[in-house]
Amino acid sequence: MRSIEVRTQAREELVDITAKVREELVSTGIKDGICYVYVPHTTAAVTINESADPSVKEDILMTLRKIVPDSLPYKHSEGNSPAHVKASLIGSSIKVIVEERQLSLGTWQGIFFCEFDGPRNRRVFIKTSS
Ligand code: ZN
Repeated sequence: MRSIEVRTQAREELVDITAKVREELVSTGIKDGICYVYVPHTTAAVTINESADPSVKEDILMTLRKIVPDSLPYKHSEGNSPAHVKASLIGSSIKVIVEERQLSLGTWQGIFFCEFDGPRNRRVFIKTSS
């Protein structure tokens, strides 16, 4: 298993980690298979979405804030329940097909680390299988 470090800068933020995942993929030497990207945190997530227009990241965060309001009577004493809920909605892993040593992402797709309780130092695990 390999891991990459992500230093988030804001409470909520989508960080494009596609280039870092590609770097790790190259160093595995895998030609064909699956690349798993996993986030070992309870208030962060990972997703694949458009990387061309940065407004899409903002729209995703805006919509999640609407779906998961800060003002609900949450019971979790740490006070960060909205971040936990958003992390579960998005999910803690993605997988991408690897062919000819390349991630089979679409033209407009990127891999995004999703921070919901930052800023923090985070880790992302990467594993491949053929
Ligand atoms: Zn918590």
